[in-house]
Amino acid sequence: MQLDEAQLTTPDPIKTYLAHWFQLGKKLYIKSGQVQLCPSLILVPGGYSQEFEACWAYVNSGQAGDCYLEGTQETIAQLQQQQWDITPCARCSMPIALPQNGLPPASCPCAGLENWPNLELPSPHSPTNNQTELRNLQLRLEDAAPPDHSRITPQKLASPEK
Ligand SMILES: [Zn+2]
Repeated sequence: MQLDEAQLTTPDPIKTYLAHWFQLGKKLYIKSGQVQLCPSLILVPGGYSQEFEACWAYVNSGQAGDCYLEGTQETIAQLQQQQWDITPCARCSMPIALPQNGLPPASCPCAGLENWPNLELPSPHSPTNNQTELRNLQLRLEDAAPPDHSRITPQKLASPEK
């Protein structure tokens, strides 16, 4: 059997979804809401924290019963069925679950967050390897630098001919 490369490299959308919301302090209600879970550390260099991985494994083990993210009604088990898409929220770009058929949820989980979207804080993100992260940072910095058209240095001064 040939390995599907996309399957290997594409992270589980529900896992990404949870990781993003945990980074904003949203809790996961488990056992039909009797217990709240929110790992304090989500990302470590190069991947997810053990704490988050353990939480994710627990949710997937079935032992946690019905689990749903604070501010949502759909259980994680429901979201893992194919009828749901995880897409960026129109307001804040956080991943939200939209049913493929039927009405979207009344509000994004972000609706209950104060001061959100907050563009001054680093956004929740997926783990990246450091090289990619550095490169992205470089690209962002290059984008952020205003093009310097105002001061045109005479060619002679800028690059003296040898
Ligand atoms: Zn939102």
